[in-house]
Amino acid sequence: MRSSSTRFCRRSALLVALFLLCRASLVSAVSSIPDHRIMVSIDLEKQQISGSVEVTVPQEVNAIRVGNDLRLRSLVLNGKSLVPSVVSGRIALPPHPDGSILLLVYEGAFKGAGDPDPANIISREGAYLTGDWYPAVESPLSLFSLKVHVPKGFQAVAEADTVAIAESGQPNLVAFEFPHPVPAIHLVMAPYVVARERFRAIEIATYLLPEDQGLAQQYLAYTRRYLQMYEEMLGPYPFRRFAVVENILPTGYGMPTFTLLGRQVLKLPFIPETSLGHEILHSWFGNSVYVDYSSGNWSEGLTSYLADQHYAVLRGEGAQYRKNVLEEYESYVHGDNEIEVRHFLSGEDRALRAVGYGKTAMIFHMLEGRIGADAFNAGLKTLIRERRFKITSWADLQRVFSQASGQDLRDFFRFWLDRKGAMEITAAQPRVSESGKAYRLDLPLRVEGTSFPVEIPVSVLTSAGSERRAVKMTTSEQTVTLSMNSPPRRLVIDPDYDLFRMLSPSERRPLWSRLLGDPTRTLALPERNGDKYSSLTEELRLRGFHTVPVSEVTRARIREGAYLFLDSAPDWISVFSKAKTAAPGFSMEIKGNPFNPRHVIGLVQAAGEEEVRAVGSRLFHYGQQSRLEFSRGRNVVKEAGPGELGIQIDVPPQVTGIPGKVGLPLSAIVTAVADQTIAYVGERHDRYGDHLAQLEVIQGLHERHRELAIGMEMFQSRYQKALDDYIAGSIDEETFLRKAHYFTSWGFNYFLYRDILLYARNEKVPVIGLNIPKELASKVARHGLAHLSDEEKALLPKGMDGADEGYRERLRQAFHMHQMEIPGGDPPRQLESFIEAQVLWDESMAAAIADYLARHPGSQMVVLAGNGHLEFGSGIPRRAYRLTGKSYVTILPHPCGPLEEGFADYILFPSIAQPPEAPKLLAAIEPSGEGPVVKGFSPGSGAEEAGIQEGDVIVGVDHRQVSDLDDLQAFLVFRRAGEKVLVAVTRGGERLEFPVELKTPFRMHP
Ligand SMILES: [Zn+2]
Repeated sequence: MRSSSTRFCRRSALLVALFLLCRASLVSAVSSIPDHRIMVSIDLEKQQISGSVEVTVPQEVNAIRVGNDLRLRSLVLNGKSLVPSVVSGRIALPPHPDGSILLLVYEGAFKGAGDPDPANIISREGAYLTGDWYPAVESPLSLFSLKVHVPKGFQAVAEADTVAIAESGQPNLVAFEFPHPVPAIHLVMAPYVVARERFRAIEIATYLLPEDQGLAQQYLAYTRRYLQMYEEMLGPYPFRRFAVVENILPTGYGMPTFTLLGRQVLKLPFIPETSLGHEILHSWFGNSVYVDYSSGNWSEGLTSYLADQHYAVLRGEGAQYRKNVLEEYESYVHGDNEIEVRHFLSGEDRALRAVGYGKTAMIFHMLEGRIGADAFNAGLKTLIRERRFKITSWADLQRVFSQASGQDLRDFFRFWLDRKGAMEITAAQPRVSESGKAYRLDLPLRVEGTSFPVEIPVSVLTSAGSERRAVKMTTSEQTVTLSMNSPPRRLVIDPDYDLFRMLSPSERRPLWSRLLGDPTRTLALPERNGDKYSSLTEELRLRGFHTVPVSEVTRARIREGAYLFLDSAPDWISVFSKAKTAAPGFSMEIKGNPFNPRHVIGLVQAAGEEEVRAVGSRLFHYGQQSRLEFSRGRNVVKEAGPGELGIQIDVPPQVTGIPGKVGLPLSAIVTAVADQTIAYVGERHDRYGDHLAQLEVIQGLHERHRELAIGMEMFQSRYQKALDDYIAGSIDEETFLRKAHYFTSWGFNYFLYRDILLYARNEKVPVIGLNIPKELASKVARHGLAHLSDEEKALLPKGMDGADEGYRERLRQAFHMHQMEIPGGDPPRQLESFIEAQVLWDESMAAAIADYLARHPGSQMVVLAGNGHLEFGSGIPRRAYRLTGKSYVTILPHPCGPLEEGFADYILFPSIAQPPEAPKLLAAIEPSGEGPVVKGFSPGSGAEEAGIQEGDVIVGVDHRQVSDLDDLQAFLVFRRAGEKVLVAVTRGGERLEFPVELKTPFRMHP
């Protein structure tokens, strides 16, 4: 287990740190390792230990460590009594010859009172002795043999290859023999039930408390499995015994020949599958090849790599595991808490572990990738063979792997051990060209934060499947070239997370851990219902959350960091799902911060205080999730949000062509699509040729199918009566245009559409206005759906679908290309609002189509709308299909930009044609409360020549009253250039009239 080894490592580090000065000489003089023979009795009632230690002391060892909790009763060196003088838990030894015999008699009490994490404790339940529980001479490694009086009904465990009863009696004297040098030994004792069996030459055993003895067979079976796995991978297990020991304290850790697992932990179902294997692997790395803490702890990273990571690989989840490592690093490690790998000793907190376990495991993964699996495995075996029971540093690892691979790995180790941070990979636009039968792909790459050379794995998706490649970078900026047999469509850089690197924005998931690890994490305290969250609030404060009243969370503030909301988030944050699922007791949702993608935001909602308390600190075990639900403290939903795998890069298609004469005449297309219920015929609004093609499709379909309707984006459904009256012949064209508010709600040259409307009127083909009020769409585009009033929300279609990815991407490009960001606004939020407005628009038009077809089940419909609402079927067609289930076809004029596959069912190449154009006053006229007001003039304006001035309000034309722009335009549209009209204006309260010559605007294009 991680938490356990942590503690072990910490103490050993202290021991080693004290001995740095003499370590070199001792390690070289292996033959003169001190040898301790310890005999102890433990009084569980009195919580005391007493005993003796006889030590064979080498000449160069010059001090004894007693610790602060032991009392020496006598100290005899070579038969001569010394008066001990203990300073800071140490006693200096007088000069003595090699092989001197030291005899210490001691006692101590370990009540563990008040220490939440005691190193030693003796109680009626048993003993747990892992700190300075015996006096010993100061040496990084020593030999130990231990005899313990074990009371009846108890069992003891310590480092041992053999355990025997030395003297039976009340109590038994049990002898533990461990023949290898070791930094320290440990002793635990409890009323264990012992189960034993053999695996190969190894005695394996479980020491479990009576209530947990049912777990023995499972632990023995997993122990066999891991011993077999690692003997095959690394060679023989270094000891003759291995025991799984239940700890009476909630903590536990791994040491030579046994692992201590805390009571609660031992019962968790995943422990035998993960942590047990990790601890068994420490038998090789950490507990026999010892760690030189003065040069950094390499063993947690290596053990994580060959245990936890390896098990994920065996499950087929290696890439996801390694991505999690990167996510943990990004969540918890920041500039101010990062250490170099070389300075890692033990993982007290998540930031340290993300480096010492996670980053270090990735360094071993990259090392294996660089030197190959064979050299890596050979290096591991050499390390074990050469460094068994020796204190081993990163330098030893570097030497062993360099020898095994024949490569100079100095730069690699130096870079990754001594430099903070992770790799960053960025790619510019790839280019494709074709040469002969192959496709050449040029990819400009930039790689920072790594040693060179480095191989970057790349997966190339082609029309024929995906191909794995590796590109070698020798400098930080390079354009790499790949040759492919099929045209490449997409590149994925480092798809399996083989590199220790920063994630690209689209790979990042909105995880709870990102909120927990964010230095800016802030809890927004609710105005109401705060009481029921008080236990959670307390816990979050302890975990470093700042708090702020929710009323003080402004847009400006939220863009600065990570926020967690309780009970509800402000209205203007619309990312959280509105619909609550079937009344969970407690739910949490984490989303990307819409105002700043570098942070996340979260929302917690609970039914009541009881539900919050029931979840308790369990909530913090789910860092790798984005959505959580609990019911009475039991987790019922856990989901991680989406994130791409690997750095995904679209490859723009290379230029292709088709023969110029593959086209069908439009009449043949009409024949081919005649049986489709809905024909969407697109347009580029200002192209007359597109509208003539629309009319041809309408005529062709109407000849075959008399029950036809025309749906038009250009008219709003609220003015349907004007359309109906016009088609019925009960109003004239000018009245129709005024009542349909054509000019103010659409405004393109009416002659672009007039042929279609005249045909519909003559043939009595219903025309259906599909559009929504312009004000509604622009309000949503500015502020998002969340900001509509309740009356406005009532106008929205029910059940809107989101935008598909392709559509979002096209909208995103349009948004940025037209620079629709409002200065000082919030671009990501504005983009979301823009997309919401487009979706609202499309959904409303789809709903109008569905509504008409539901009322006229036998009818066919031609829908006229801009290409943007129809291309790739994304805007209206698929939504209308969701609502109607009716067949459809899309017939679109070719796009102005690049043409891509899937753009439409039929692509038209309409003629270029000039529509008639109404003459103009050549004045800029805007609506106002009093009527249309003149704001300026075009060059050569007849209105200006006649004497109309800026600020004049137009109130009449040719003796007709004008009250709005539609009145004026509907009158002018049927005049001719050169005609004179009498324009009445008010200026400063006075009514004036001017005869104005109408003119056709000057146009540059044909
Ligand atoms: Zn470990």
